[in-house]
Amino acid sequence: MTAFNAYPRVEICHGPTPIESLPRLSKRLNTELLIKRDDCTGLAGGGNKTRKLEYLIADAQRLNADTLITIGGFQSNHARQTAAAAAKLGFDCELILQGVDGVPSKNYADNGNVLLDQLLGANIHRIGQEGDCDQYCDELVMSLQQQGKTPYVIPVGGSNTIGSLGYVRCGIELAAQLSESDLLVDHIVLATGSAGTQAGLLAGLILANSDIKVLGICVSRETQAQETLVEDLLSDLLISLDLDPMLAQGRVVCDGGYYGPAYGVSTPAMVEAVELMASMEGILLDPVYTGKAMAGLIDKCQRNEFKNKKVLFLHTGGSQGLFAYQQVFDK
Ligand SMILES: *Cc1c(COP(=O)(O)O)cnc(C)c1O
Repeated sequence: MTAFNAYPRVEICHGPTPIESLPRLSKRLNTELLIKRDDCTGLAGGGNKTRKLEYLIADAQRLNADTLITIGGFQSNHARQTAAAAAKLGFDCELILQGVDGVPSKNYADNGNVLLDQLLGANIHRIGQEGDCDQYCDELVMSLQQQGKTPYVIPVGGSNTIGSLGYVRCGIELAAQLSESDLLVDHIVLATGSAGTQAGLLAGLILANSDIKVLGICVSRETQAQETLVEDLLSDLLISLDLDPMLAQGRVVCDGGYYGPAYGVSTPAMVEAVELMASMEGILLDPVYTGKAMAGLIDKCQRNEFKNKKVLFLHTGGSQGLFAYQQVFDK
């Protein structure tokens, strides 16, 4: 805990984010379901990247940076939240955004998160599907430095050991909320992509001596590849917290059965999950992450995999992306 508390953080996240019950959905699925509202972190629409940015921005300030650069898909929620954090804390923001094949085109290219990125004052660099974002980023860093600027590069999804500290904090916060309210949760289900959320959450639960099981529903990779990604980040993170990396063993579980043909490409089960959650609980999910994760949770409830268990869904945000997928939901 001492090592964790020594990392600097800027305060931009509303919190602790609430934990709510999902009474109508629980009844429908015959499983007791709770939700932690990390879609309500308060930064220009909120979402999980706000927690990561609290640590990444503190690091950028430590290095006297004046410009934040990050990379993502056109509809990256991470890019939107980075643009908002940059605006709030007085950084310039450069977003390198890549197109994704197989998604509806018009709104995907200029509505949803992209519209908000522009409002938030970010400078957008659009890269085609085949373009090399990392190389583009290297060149952008050099050209900004030649102009006398000090850029700070945030990796895709903010998922390095520094950004993941935001979810260490969330794991500790969640464990405290559950113990204060005498809630016994058996499983946490969340969407996993660049892995920092799942790795950080697990490290936080380990720090809080909680043995709640965590299941990551993959949005872009098959089970084994995603588990390796999360495990590697978790063991680096445990080392950076002065903990034994062996504590990671057996804790990382992912399921690659629900992301469909590719990252960002819609699936019928995602559409159903988004519609069900909206119409039964008044909660907006998103087409790329939480809709697919909820589709996984619903399927597992229907297969009785959570029989007599209490399950908490971590809502990581992203509903701004719905406007980019209008065609998919239009009736
Ligand atoms: C980025 C994101 C995730 C995935 O988090 P990772 O840390 O990249 O695994 C989940 N949900 C939403 C809405 C996101 O924007």
